[in-house]
Amino acid sequence: MRYISTRGHLSGMPTSSGPTFSEILLGGLAPDGGLYLPESYPQVSSSELEQWRQLSYADLAWAVLSRFVDDIPPADLRALVTRTYTAEVYGNGRRKETAGEITPLLWLERPDPARAEGGLAILELSNGPTLAFKDMAMQLLGHLFEYVLARQGAEINILGATSGDTGSSAEYAMRGKQGVRVFMLSPHDRMSAFQRAQMYSLHDANIHNIAVRGTFDDAQDIVKAVSNDHAFKAKYKIGAVNSINWARVAAQVVYYFKGYFAATAAAPRGSNHQVAFAVPSGNFGNICAGHIARMMGLPIGRLVLATNENDVLDEFFRTGVYRPRSTAETCATSSPSMDISKASNFERFVFDLVGRDASVVRKLWAEVDAGRSFDLSGTPFLARLPQFGFISGSSTHADRLATIRQTFAKYGLMIDTHTADGLKVGSELRTPDMPMVVLETALPAKFEQTIVEALGRQPQRPAGLQGIENLPQRVQVMDVSVDAVKRFIEQHVR
Ligand SMILES: *Cc1c(COP(=O)(O)O)cnc(C)c1O
Repeated sequence: MRYISTRGHLSGMPTSSGPTFSEILLGGLAPDGGLYLPESYPQVSSSELEQWRQLSYADLAWAVLSRFVDDIPPADLRALVTRTYTAEVYGNGRRKETAGEITPLLWLERPDPARAEGGLAILELSNGPTLAFKDMAMQLLGHLFEYVLARQGAEINILGATSGDTGSSAEYAMRGKQGVRVFMLSPHDRMSAFQRAQMYSLHDANIHNIAVRGTFDDAQDIVKAVSNDHAFKAKYKIGAVNSINWARVAAQVVYYFKGYFAATAAAPRGSNHQVAFAVPSGNFGNICAGHIARMMGLPIGRLVLATNENDVLDEFFRTGVYRPRSTAETCATSSPSMDISKASNFERFVFDLVGRDASVVRKLWAEVDAGRSFDLSGTPFLARLPQFGFISGSSTHADRLATIRQTFAKYGLMIDTHTADGLKVGSELRTPDMPMVVLETALPAKFEQTIVEALGRQPQRPAGLQGIENLPQRVQVMDVSVDAVKRFIEQHVR
């Protein structure tokens, strides 16, 4: 499997000259500014699907990922996924009876053809170390990085900025990994006590927390400035693990298969059952994996994209207009991990929507990169949208509170604010002909404040995370200064 760029820098060359999986693993954007995608989507036949149905999560991950990876020996790839997807690592689920499963499915309403009830379920993706779905891919990334770096005799210094979820997920995945150091910038005194404790209580020698006296955007600007210093970047082998990383998207494809099998487990064999997935979306990474699973032949009837008040993507799927917002237009909501101004993975889907014509993508993103919008309404491209299965909706703070309350009252289940956005939109758009599976992107323990606002009580914490706020913390506090961050990196890389 070779990879191409959505902006077509390889056009005119034979595809066999494109980079391999390992060659794009440690990088971010393609050299032409586009995003990497496989040159074609591997196809899974219905008989293969039935075989895959029986597999454990790790074996399924191997079956799916080996279609995208051909430069890691199969036995090595199998060892990496087996080490990643264990019951110990993904052991923070609420239910004892599903403790051995990596991504348990929880029915809120079981399918019942007699009552024209398609079924409604939650797919638990947040039972990993940091209680958010990002652990599903990030943990694998940690193992892949270590493996590929050892093979190349190389090392990497990951520099990132976080407002919460990504930073902790990256640190838990990379802690103790050979050849990897993490320098994670976070806004000083602006994260929850729990989020601070998750990151700052790590004492591994290769993990460095830097709290900047500023906002998340200030931290992000420092990361950009350091990365734009090409000499510094090369000398200190600066890398990233942001959501455009192809391996993260590929790893996420796996749970759509697993969720599909779980949701159709009781259905009669042989017929082509469809399943709808509702996905709380920000940077379009999670749902992009659903799109890819569908392109591989998984019978996904609908992909329901849910946004919060930052509804850039909902607007596109309703109107064909993609209008990235300015920082000033981006609001801080109670589902903060979806507070985005533009969706960094969206270009991958648009590449497919326009028939994989990189020249069209280049034209559209010339607008986006200049801070403008584009409009596909009235073009033949938008007419093709239904064949990709996407529909969308959005949610507000009041909707979130109401959904958290109703879900607790009706099913006795406490859900987090992001999952509430997905459940709200998924419930509105569900149909009797197929199950609606809502992806749980975080556990409520991560967002205590809004849970207390909705329910008047604290969410439960997984046992290992009780009282982590009391652990000793290690963090370097700094002013907003590119030079100070560079000096810190210089002192800690040798
Ligand atoms: C990152 C995140 C999202 C958004 O996922 P994307 O892949 O950016 O669309 C949603 N919910 C939670 C809890 C997250 O951490």
